[in-house]
Amino acid sequence: MAIFLVLLGPPGVGKGTQAERLAEESGLPHVSSGDLFREAIKAQTPLGREAQTYIDRGELVPDKVTIAMVAERLNKPDCAEGAILDGFPRTIEQAKALDDVLAQRNASVTLVPYISSATETLLQRLGGRWTCRDCQAVYHVLWNPPSEPGKCDVCGGELYQRPDDTPETHRKRIEVYLEQTAPLIEYYRQRGLLVEINGEADIEGVYADLLAAVRHIGDKKPASSEEPCYA
Ligand code: AMP
Repeated sequence: MAIFLVLLGPPGVGKGTQAERLAEESGLPHVSSGDLFREAIKAQTPLGREAQTYIDRGELVPDKVTIAMVAERLNKPDCAEGAILDGFPRTIEQAKALDDVLAQRNASVTLVPYISSATETLLQRLGGRWTCRDCQAVYHVLWNPPSEPGKCDVCGGELYQRPDDTPETHRKRIEVYLEQTAPLIEYYRQRGLLVEINGEADIEGVYADLLAAVRHIGDKKPASSEEPCYA
């Protein structure tokens, strides 16, 4: 049975960093809707041009295009064993669509680690964020600086501040999160899938808690299950 993890949490809580690490360790692909949009913007596709206007304002891209884009990504062969979803779903409609896409292949969301944090911490984190132009790795001037300023440790690419990384957009993104995405906490809690993780800890601390949560996936399966639990 494939494993689909949904990393839930506000912008700036470090979902991307954690998802990337977990992807490396588990071998599952990291599927980030934000990265998919940024790639489309870079390539100047019609989807990219449409998404850009929303992203620059800190608003959500409409469900219809977002769902189609992520569904297409999840249907690629590398997602056959599952995926680590980061930034999707962000609305109840997207969550329902994800359930449908997975149900079509006899799969379902396995676990939803919800990384929580206070708004002030999020604003500080969003403020010092730098992203690699080439591989999208994320750094922070204080908490996770690159070894060489302006240069990506992973691929040597140039680091830049995302155009949606302005104080006004940060506030708007948090507002949008509280209105449209936070209801997913209850959606997944009611389904028994939510595990809360304290996002105020440092990167290592959050990752340790995330790994501990993921390790329990195996516990939910029948004793005879031979599925990996990434212990
Ligand atoms: P992220 O990199 O996840 O912070 O996403 C950057 C921006 O892309 C967001 O502020 C939204 O404008 C857009 N975006 C990413 N994922 C979604 C989604 N699931 N639904 C709608 N918009 C999204």
